[in-house]
Amino acid sequence: MGIFEDVLQNAKAVVGTVGKKAGEVVDLSKLKLAAADLKSEIAQKYQILGRITFEEMTGSKDYSKNKAEIIEKIKELKTQLEAVNDMIAGAKQKVKCQFCGAYNAKGAVFCSSCGEKIVIDTEACEHMSPDDVIDFTEDNFADEDLL
Ligand SMILES: [Zn+2]
Repeated sequence: MGIFEDVLQNAKAVVGTVGKKAGEVVDLSKLKLAAADLKSEIAQKYQILGRITFEEMTGSKDYSKNKAEIIEKIKELKTQLEAVNDMIAGAKQKVKCQFCGAYNAKGAVFCSSCGEKIVIDTEACEHMSPDDVIDFTEDNFADEDLL
């Protein structure tokens, strides 16, 4: 028992770390972590949906309320994942200020936040290469099945 509560709790925790910051640009690695968390949350919920559907079909229990709840949660998580993916795409189009950490438009010479000269960190650029996007979507989760 308690499995539905546990899952919903986890989802809330993940959404809480990302959801409130949807408007601001956060660290790319944090975004990726959040997206991975959201994906695993979604995968977990699909699994539970399958399990309770099986129990419904083979037993006499009615899980329709739980199912509706989980489906709503999946929708919510998908919306979050979409937002996070948008933020990842946005972060990739920007350069990070070495002094204050603010993101600036690619090609900016001075930071719009602190006014310092933008120093291009080659290591950071490497991390933020377009390959990142591909790596990210080709992880262990089958995106096509989830989205
Ligand atoms: Zn700055």
